[in-house]
Amino acid sequence: MRLCRFNDDRLGAVTGTGIHDVTEIIKKLPPQKWPAQFGDALISNLDLLRPDIEALVDGGDAIDPETVTLRSPVANPSKIIAAPVNYKKHQDEANRDKEINFGRDVKTIDHYGLFLKANSSLVGPGEGIALRFPDRRNDHEVELAVIIGKPGNEISRDDALSHVAGYAIGLDISVRGTEDRSLRKSIDSYSVLGPWITTADEVKDPGNLDFSLTVNGEIRQQSNTSELIFDVPRLIEYASTFYTLHPGDIIMTGTPEGVGPLQPGDILAARIESVGAMNVEIRATEGA
Ligand code: MN
Repeated sequence: MRLCRFNDDRLGAVTGTGIHDVTEIIKKLPPQKWPAQFGDALISNLDLLRPDIEALVDGGDAIDPETVTLRSPVANPSKIIAAPVNYKKHQDEANRDKEINFGRDVKTIDHYGLFLKANSSLVGPGEGIALRFPDRRNDHEVELAVIIGKPGNEISRDDALSHVAGYAIGLDISVRGTEDRSLRKSIDSYSVLGPWITTADEVKDPGNLDFSLTVNGEIRQQSNTSELIFDVPRLIEYASTFYTLHPGDIIMTGTPEGVGPLQPGDILAARIESVGAMNVEIRATEGA
């Protein structure tokens, strides 16, 4: 199943014929009270709601995806976890490029561990990316994004994939510089998730997915998740030794080689095999 959020918080199920509006299913979620619990209420209840969503799709009309604004398919993650330098060829390019390494020896995820991106940086592909510091280099990074489906702590590698609700395309937009990653990669709109969540049952092997990113039609990044240094089960196992993972938590798994600068007016096109494809527009932040 493929689930998207579009326009003013409409929930959609995506099929070959288009987007089916299944927003009425939200009424079946348990009422929210203060304080809200960690985790996204929709993702927490996805297994429960799935038969009802499928029943609604069967009877309804479809909307053309080109006519809607796609939002982040996860509305309320408790955190966005990200993997630094998780592809060897990206490490190599970072060590060759002074505008990325700023004189430092770039190591890999084994050395850095993980970092967090601010939840307030999260947008969907239809909202676009607003570049904040036009005098600095702002790079694209395309990544497989994992959406956690059930809570877990100290999850074993063997059990890891049973904690996955689904997958999406993640863009980990980054202003280059010497500051911590958590700052440089947390600017508003610098975390893009989309075009929808493809549930885990539709992705046979997250460790063997072709993916790519083009800028204005030119191919910039092209790889396969088999090149990951920490693969998806290892990332879940490792992250959960530090953090409790909650439903809706997002893990951006790292970017391959080919990162490069963005300019206002650029159009990104990203795709991941079995997951989906999306276009994202780059603009300048007003006043920046
Ligand atoms: Mn990244």
